[in-house]
Amino acid sequence: MALVFPGPPRAALSALGWQAVYALVSRHPALAVERVFFSGPGKAVSEDSGRPLSDFPVIAFSLGYEEDYATAVAALMSVDLPPLAMDRPDYPLVLAGGPLVFMNPAPMLPALDAAFVGEAEAGFAAFLDRIREYALDGRDKPSLLAAVADMPGVLVPGRTSLPVRRAVHRAPGSSTALSCPAHSVFVSPEAEFKDMLLIEVNRGCPYGCRFCAAGFVYRPPRHASMDDVLDIVDRTRPQKVGLVGTALTDWDELLPLLDALAQRGVKFSLASVRADGVTRELLTILRAAGSRTLTLALEGPSARIRCAANKNLSEEAFLAAVALAGEFGINHLKMYLIVGWPGETPADYDELAALMARVHAAGRIGRGKRGVQHATLAASCLVPKPFTPLQWAKMASEDDIARAGERLKQAVAPHKGMRYSLDGAFAARVQGLLARGDERLFDLILLAAKNGGNFKKALYAWNGDPAAYIDRQRDPDEVFPWEIVDVGVSRDYLRREWRRYHDAAPTAKCPAAGCGACGRCGME
Ligand code: SF4
Repeated sequence: MALVFPGPPRAALSALGWQAVYALVSRHPALAVERVFFSGPGKAVSEDSGRPLSDFPVIAFSLGYEEDYATAVAALMSVDLPPLAMDRPDYPLVLAGGPLVFMNPAPMLPALDAAFVGEAEAGFAAFLDRIREYALDGRDKPSLLAAVADMPGVLVPGRTSLPVRRAVHRAPGSSTALSCPAHSVFVSPEAEFKDMLLIEVNRGCPYGCRFCAAGFVYRPPRHASMDDVLDIVDRTRPQKVGLVGTALTDWDELLPLLDALAQRGVKFSLASVRADGVTRELLTILRAAGSRTLTLALEGPSARIRCAANKNLSEEAFLAAVALAGEFGINHLKMYLIVGWPGETPADYDELAALMARVHAAGRIGRGKRGVQHATLAASCLVPKPFTPLQWAKMASEDDIARAGERLKQAVAPHKGMRYSLDGAFAARVQGLLARGDERLFDLILLAAKNGGNFKKALYAWNGDPAAYIDRQRDPDEVFPWEIVDVGVSRDYLRREWRRYHDAAPTAKCPAAGCGACGRCGME
């Protein structure tokens, strides 16, 4: 089979999900897998043998971002494979998996013979076994598809009874343990995360921030054990480790693990951390390891929006973390912010401006040695995602985002050493359109694939109406195209959380004891 990453090799080499699937398939004694990286133009060919994609009987796409849809379709077209599954009665078999597939496979379904909905460790190998058995037996594609249609996590359009339940990898007897944490199989100086071994230390997130897909579509929250992580480090002996996960500072083995890495002389880096998890101990270890950047997630511009988002972060905790960053001589403080919230007003940005003044003072930003050297308020646009409480929300317009950008500029302008950045509103709205789209979006994807991934051109030529997907608040009872998947979190729970967004009412995080003691959201 060809395992296709719709992007350049440097991104694939830093994509843990794609590499975990590669490891899983390459260990399979009866399968041969080759890597294909495609970001166009040109033909999609194997990195390993140079064979064109059309030579492979099984083609599997790893889909992580909405933009990947058009790249995947372009990869098929580059080797003259018909993009529509119905025009490919015979092999190859075209499959897809990855987070996008369990959030909303609908826009891409017309291209796929089958999708794997869920975590690869939970049944992907069995699915491939059945494919191998039928294909090597000389069975035709329709009988193969009939044979896999009812397997756990498998979605064969037109054959599988819907909704298909997301396959979840569970450690025996525990809903909170992450057994066999995923890790990189390729460590390369060419990777985006240069020479770094990535290890997944947790999956899912207990906080349930209402905008964040990771907090809902990867439930239940699970942690790896420190012993398992160190075992991977000792086997692979990397120079640098990147710890991948959410709410890392909630993990009580984080500091002992960082200590153990330091003792082994292994450098490490953390993804963004919760401000309320920044302590002297953590900063001492980070600084001793040479880290000079600290990334904190602020998310909402005001306390009201952070409550609505269930971010559960006080201004005091944020300022305390900034003050510690200054005290420990952090060079670059990065603050993640999201703009374009349902119901946001100029008053929320007035509050942000006042907070930035306090951040500037607390971190002694730009004032020389005893303080943070410089800080960035890094903003992106809210993209309401399927299976989150915001799946009912209207998206902000490009004008709304431009106005928010002006306010960010005003918020940082008075402060030496502070700047802001804002991701493009057009790209975010395209992402939003594809994220909550249905099968009719496939025409747009096809047009983008024909135009080198240019969605601006594709939207001019498309005869659909983007506003119907992103510029309206959806009815509470509307049935969504992505509900062909059941991620395990109930619709009633999500709808309650959407109401609580409007009331800015907090919801407690998942209990440490796990789902058995809770059952609140429907996960079993
Ligand atoms: S059942 Fe409770 S502990 Fe389990 S994922 Fe849902 S909210 Fe979290």
